[in-house]
Amino acid sequence: MKYLFPTIIGLCILISCGTEPSPVYILNTSVNGEGQIGYSVGDMEKIIISSGEEQFDKEESVYLTALPDSGWVFSSWGGDASGNDLTTTVTVDNEKFVRAVFNKIPNLKFEFNIHSSIPEDYETAIKDIISNLEITAPVNEYVGRYGQSITGVAVYSWLQDKVDYPYSNEIGRTEQCICGEVGGKLVMSLMQEEQWLEEWNMHRFALIAHEYFHVYQLSLSRDFMSSMWMVEGQAATIEALYLREFFNDSDYIENFFNNVDYTKAIEYIETYEEYESAYDSFGKYGDITIFMNLVLTKILQSNGLTEIASFKLVFNTFWMERNGNEDWKTDFITIFGLDVDTFYQALTQYIDDPLAVLPSNQLELSSFLELSK
Ligand SMILES: [Zn+2]
Repeated sequence: MKYLFPTIIGLCILISCGTEPSPVYILNTSVNGEGQIGYSVGDMEKIIISSGEEQFDKEESVYLTALPDSGWVFSSWGGDASGNDLTTTVTVDNEKFVRAVFNKIPNLKFEFNIHSSIPEDYETAIKDIISNLEITAPVNEYVGRYGQSITGVAVYSWLQDKVDYPYSNEIGRTEQCICGEVGGKLVMSLMQEEQWLEEWNMHRFALIAHEYFHVYQLSLSRDFMSSMWMVEGQAATIEALYLREFFNDSDYIENFFNNVDYTKAIEYIETYEEYESAYDSFGKYGDITIFMNLVLTKILQSNGLTEIASFKLVFNTFWMERNGNEDWKTDFITIFGLDVDTFYQALTQYIDDPLAVLPSNQLELSSFLELSK
């Protein structure tokens, strides 16, 4: 009798120390390429996972969503799931394994149609700036809003003083623009004149970054664009920041700020929403559109975002989220957490020292334009 107690205690220890029965309801996940898997069970909120093991204490029907990173597209499910819909359901009634396969979206390919009238050094500049931006701000193939596949960009440049619209058969009498498309390629028209190519005129370089950024906007938004002050103001901001970062030229962006009648421009701020009225206001009150986009980054920073995060939201995420919704003011509220009218009213708080809205000198374009960051 006196040995019974230790025996019982010994038994208990033996049982509790033994290998626990492993749960049968396990979902193993893995990812090929760059993306994640979201899952939810019942009305549980979606949880994001990539690779790993999820355990359940009973049989569950698990709802899965494939979440490609930007620059990637979902391809298919593998393992115990199949098909290529973004969402699928797996019944976890024992140990299950699911793989999501993501493929990289190909970059837009640039082809150059540079007329012999263009000086050699400017031809080199066009190619150098574009190949630099292909790394700094990658642009991907996309399917446009009317179902057309865009796989590249055809760049055209010529000296109008020497030759009169030499590509008009292909691209019409276009001047400086992203103007439509030919054969699944966006047309980048870089018409030049001798006076614009003079040494002092930095706009000859800025123009290339400006038009490139339009390609970037189109590629992210699948050509769902926005108000004039966002489309053009951001392209102008990028052209100016490009010169600051790669040509060490800070005067260029400051010049935009010195030629604005801020009070008048804000009084007629809605005229900057549409192209026709905006160009009219440029003539009367100056170009306030760069200032507007930069104020937006400052407001986002005062709400707690870092400088890089605020620029990413304005210059990248906004265009990505434009996808499919034609009302830019609705997207504006969703993405920035403030409505357009409140934003317009806030502009006056920044006009005493407009240059204070410029980003820090450390800010690099790649930090907010690269798709994977
Ligand atoms: Zn433009």
